[in-house]
Amino acid sequence: MKIVLLGPPGAGKGTFAAQASKRLGLPHISTGDLFRAAIKNETSLGKKVKDILANGLLVPDELTIGLVKDRLLQPDAADGWILDGFPRTIPQAEALQEINPAELVLNLEVDDGLILQRLMGRRICRNCGKIYHMVTMPPKRDGICDACGGELYTRSDDQEDSIKTRLAAYREQTEPLVQWYGDRNLLIPLRGKGTPDSVYAAFEEVLRNR
Ligand SMILES: [Zn+2]
Repeated sequence: MKIVLLGPPGAGKGTFAAQASKRLGLPHISTGDLFRAAIKNETSLGKKVKDILANGLLVPDELTIGLVKDRLLQPDAADGWILDGFPRTIPQAEALQEINPAELVLNLEVDDGLILQRLMGRRICRNCGKIYHMVTMPPKRDGICDACGGELYTRSDDQEDSIKTRLAAYREQTEPLVQWYGDRNLLIPLRGKGTPDSVYAAFEEVLRNR
């Protein structure tokens, strides 16, 4: 199954995708992770992306499309995938339909107040990427990852100003995708409010009814 996840930053796409990936045995392909890996490995693309993300801006389409295209050609993606953070614009969606079309598009719906609350409490392990939340999923020891002992940090794009910039960019550039996929009968709305398990249960219900 080829699944695209839509929804504003903080809708829980990463958490949902990790869960779906495990249960469905499909790779979770996150453009955020691909970008962070490129930055960490100091590739030429990574250097460009670093400046763009630090300013809370969206990465240009051609850079993102190239990166995702390469990733979808990896052998583990042959039977399907879960895309998180891509496409973000209509040109990206058009490119994906040509390269490797989505079969199901889930739109995680969450209101802005909850998004701010969620993102500002988010902490990420620098070592393994596990996501924590100071209110809903705190680590056992302050600032330390339960899974690997790595250091937890707040992403620079999870600061309040940066979140507001990302939300505005989402509303302007990505929300039209909801309509675009809806017109192609691929869109399924999913309420992103509630626990990760309740969101996943709603998704399973959707699969059963397909
Ligand atoms: Zn860790």
